[in-house]
Amino acid sequence: MDFPIVTLLDDVLSRWWLQEHFHPDGLKCPHCGKGVGEARVFRMTGKSQLRVYRCNGCQSIYNVYSGTIFEGTHFRPAQTVLLLRGVCKGEPSAAIAREIGVSRQTVHAIRKVIQANAERSQPESSLPDQRTETDELFQNAGEKRRNSRRSR
Ligand SMILES: [Zn+2]
Repeated sequence: MDFPIVTLLDDVLSRWWLQEHFHPDGLKCPHCGKGVGEARVFRMTGKSQLRVYRCNGCQSIYNVYSGTIFEGTHFRPAQTVLLLRGVCKGEPSAAIAREIGVSRQTVHAIRKVIQANAERSQPESSLPDQRTETDELFQNAGEKRRNSRRSR
């Protein structure tokens, strides 16, 4: 059962959350680096209801999605938050798509980009303590075997 959760999520709070997580050092002009305090609200986007800022320094326009994989999309902030939440929780693309009201292909395409970015940000070197990982692996394997039906 899918819940119409996207209609229950506040877009203003979602936009703040996105701004805090997409731009942890503060929203800035992607072209000259001046902060949003040195910009004016130029307009609101139609479908996604995002503030578009015009930089007072270089006259470029940007919004909270600029410089992210969501740049150029028309997702409402609540849709973006729920999409990210669903991908991080490993929910199927079809379920996320139904919840936020976009196509499964759109969710799948964004999921692939998120996963590729996550893979690129993985450390190149192995963890310093391989022994701990191996122990944990064997411990988990043993727990699964004890709980299987065949052993009873
Ligand atoms: Zn600028």
